[in-house]
Amino acid sequence: MQTPIRISFLDHTAKLGGAELSLLNTLQKLDRSRFAPFVILGEDGPLVQKLTAAGVDTCIVPLESAVADAKKDQLGASSLLKLNAVWKTLKYSWRVARLMRSKRVDLIHTNSLKADIIGGLCAWFTGLPLIWHIHDRLEGAYLPRPVAATIRHLCRWLPDFIVANSQSTLDSLRLPTRDRSAVIFEGIPPEQRPAFTSALIPPPESSGSMATVPVCDDVSGLNQTLLPGPANKPAVVGIVGRLTQWKGQHVLIEAAALVRGRFPNTIFQIIGSAMFGENSYEAMLKRRVMELGLGDCMQFLGFQDDVGSLLDRLDVLVHASILEEPFGRVITEGMLGGKPVVATRGGGVPEIVLDGITGFLVPMAHVAGMADAICKLLEDPILREKMGREGRKRASEHFTTNQTVPQLESLFERIGGAHRRRVAVD
Ligand code: UDP
Repeated sequence: MQTPIRISFLDHTAKLGGAELSLLNTLQKLDRSRFAPFVILGEDGPLVQKLTAAGVDTCIVPLESAVADAKKDQLGASSLLKLNAVWKTLKYSWRVARLMRSKRVDLIHTNSLKADIIGGLCAWFTGLPLIWHIHDRLEGAYLPRPVAATIRHLCRWLPDFIVANSQSTLDSLRLPTRDRSAVIFEGIPPEQRPAFTSALIPPPESSGSMATVPVCDDVSGLNQTLLPGPANKPAVVGIVGRLTQWKGQHVLIEAAALVRGRFPNTIFQIIGSAMFGENSYEAMLKRRVMELGLGDCMQFLGFQDDVGSLLDRLDVLVHASILEEPFGRVITEGMLGGKPVVATRGGGVPEIVLDGITGFLVPMAHVAGMADAICKLLEDPILREKMGREGRKRASEHFTTNQTVPQLESLFERIGGAHRRRVAVD
């Protein structure tokens, strides 16, 4: 019997960003009788523990700070030429390549832009086939132009195959041909779907008791309790994602001030934390909440491990990115939980949300448009229920690991298997 194909999965970070959660979900579901995953991470972090708990062989090879701390949205043309960082990347890649050889790896899969470069060098050193799994749009709005252009150029000759998390991400690579690339959406484990004890339509007997929401952050004056019950149950509108300017939490805050004018009891929840040092944005959001007098209804819940159960309590999920979102896992998670979505029209989002069917698409950075769409849902519980149901159906048919992992597996089998056969002939 054939031994499983050994795949080395490479990521520069062990923080729980969308790409890393996507990798985790893939590895949790990967058929271990056919594939033996070996994860190499550039740092320690919460992903390590989760991978270990999933029984995945994981190893940390620490990246030097010159490389690890370079933020992709702050790189410039000059950073491509920083000799010190180039030398350190080469040395690091050589070390990782040796580790891959010692583990008798058959295939390299890279999961982040930094890992793409390192994996590209490893493939060059070892002769192993390489799959780039791209979770970011390679456009000037998202990355500095010279960096985006360089990576787009490398796309053509470094990887053997490219997986993009949406058609929009794939289009941003501007590949001359599409024969060595595919769109495979990010898959959510279907069991992650919240219990759906939803706030969509409150159960008739649910009056009376006070439900405490998770403790908020340091914005004074926040109301920390909800009053459930058919008559006075406040609607809950939430946004989930790391706190960073381009995710547009500030747009929701401005929109909340308008929504509040029409639905004074609405509660707004901001779920997620600043992940890559964007603490000043978080402070700015909290300041703005106080300026707008929203301290009693806007809750900052910080990073949550169990997003599913919070999603379950929302009436409306908002996604507010002001740049084209490459994919938007949180939208599929909300849909899988039966939530109607108000999302900005850009990038991969229209591939997920069917406008007017599973939610509303609104222009990016358009406060009034967002407020209007939220109000349309708040005033119509039947519409919320209908859109939630459609969303759940669409998400379970297209955006779970039941669909995405078999697609990745057949790719791994094809590329890893071909390499094995080539080595056997040699
Ligand atoms: N997430 C989480 N806890 C939080 C906020 C976000 O686990 O407090 C998860 C969220 O459920 C989603 C991922 O982080 O699975 C974010 O992925 P997305 O594609 O939406 O955004 P990215 O961070 O990749 O740009």
